[in-house]
Amino acid sequence: MVEIYVDIEKCTGCGDCVKACPPEILFVNANYCNIRENLVPECLGCQSCVVVCPTAAISVKDLERSFTS
Ligand code: SF4
Ligand code: SF4
Repeated sequence: MVEIYVDIEKCTGCGDCVKACPPEILFVNANYCNIRENLVPECLGCQSCVVVCPTAAISVKDLERSFTS
């Protein structure tokens, strides 16, 4: 199981994570990144969203493999 968290205090709504996410789990609405909760099980745990985020606003934690970002 994967947990995706967006810190809306840090998020600028730039959309870089949206473009980086292959399963299109993320979208920008109201000027910050939102998560399509129904698609969270599709998360690859690739950390692409984490890598591209300029403000370190997003984190992805794989609760089974126990890596954190
Ligand atoms: S870890 Fe990969 S698949 Fe999961 S939300 Fe981030 S970019 Fe999308
Ligand atoms: S890349 Fe970071 S700052 Fe940009 S929309 Fe995604 S979470 Fe927000």
